[in-house]
Amino acid sequence: MDYNLSDILMGLGEERESYAGAVAPPLFQTSNFSFADTQKMREALQDEYQHSIYSRGKNPTVALLRQKLAALEGADDALVFSSGCAAITTALLSHLKAGDHMVCIRKPYSWVTYLCEHILPRYQISVSYAKEGTVAAYEAVTRPETRLYYLESPNTFTFEITDIAGVATLARSRDIVTVIDNSYSTPLYQQPLALGVDLVVHSASKYLAGHSDVVAGVLAGNNAMIRRIYHSEYLAFGAVIQPFEAWLMLRGLRTLHLRLEQSSRNAQAVIQAIDGHPAVRRILYPFHPSFEGYALAHQQMKNASGLFSIELNTDDPAYVVAFANHLKYFLKAVSWGGFESLVFPAYTFYRFDQPPENQISWKIVRLYCGLEQSMVLVNDVLNALNHISHGRF
Ligand SMILES: *Cc1c(COP(=O)(O)O)cnc(C)c1O
Repeated sequence: MDYNLSDILMGLGEERESYAGAVAPPLFQTSNFSFADTQKMREALQDEYQHSIYSRGKNPTVALLRQKLAALEGADDALVFSSGCAAITTALLSHLKAGDHMVCIRKPYSWVTYLCEHILPRYQISVSYAKEGTVAAYEAVTRPETRLYYLESPNTFTFEITDIAGVATLARSRDIVTVIDNSYSTPLYQQPLALGVDLVVHSASKYLAGHSDVVAGVLAGNNAMIRRIYHSEYLAFGAVIQPFEAWLMLRGLRTLHLRLEQSSRNAQAVIQAIDGHPAVRRILYPFHPSFEGYALAHQQMKNASGLFSIELNTDDPAYVVAFANHLKYFLKAVSWGGFESLVFPAYTFYRFDQPPENQISWKIVRLYCGLEQSMVLVNDVLNALNHISHGRF
């Protein structure tokens, strides 16, 4: 990391002397801001990017958070939304219009698939999927009217890796905007802007906020793009983060590096312990040597985080159910990035009445390792695997 993380997390943007020396930043839980006189009000209304007028625009608690997020991501500025999906939708709709075409990674976050399949077509925006994460795969589906590449690397159920620098270079040569979902890695483990990507989005509901008590999203990029989006889609759609959620996220960010490290260390301890277990057919993790994207992942990521999947060695869904039920410390829940470990079997959303080609196999179980002690999680997963490999359930 070539910046001082402590400066960003502890000091950047904190003007403690202006609020009685308070160590924690103030929460400006207000919808609007008043002015001393009409002239000052006029000044503010001429430039809503600089001035606090109404909390759909600039709010000081949110502004502090924006500053820290932008610095972490190596961006000029960042906007914070009421969800990751709001950040993604805003990024896409701020660059696409009728007649445009977009290329998307093959298996993006589920609601991005929905957006591509059901909403964008209503506005005559067409979408193609790159069949893999290579430059050639993106080139193959690019058209003269392609305006945007949407990436997610790794994605968060099967962890396919995209050649970020390669695809970004191709995009620049064709005047195509690149957007990447960096939720899995956080800016601490991967810096897509430095690899040539234009805009980074996050589901801050995961690691950035980090305590399973906030739903929020981030969009980061250069000044010109962020300013344009702020004055247009950000203010017009209005899916902005609320001050209290921004305050919680500031609090969560203070420990981002510690949480991420512990979560990642736990995942790697579990993976090491279950590697080669007869009940496990495959481990899907960017930093596992058997993983297809391993070399590329090492090239562009500093580390892999605490989320991975395993494919169970079975042809009977009952094994998947028994495995997940036998885990004591992994809550059965969606999402990830919080303090608690989670298990999410693909079985829970798999449609047995539909063809398997475009589905994630029901044999795949996603595990998120939280902040528990490593041995607790290692033993829990080993016990559950031993339980099903003996067929006693
Ligand atoms: C959760 C998630 C999203 C959606 O974010 P929300 O905050 O739930 O709207 C987008 N991308 C990834 C990778 C996610 O995990």
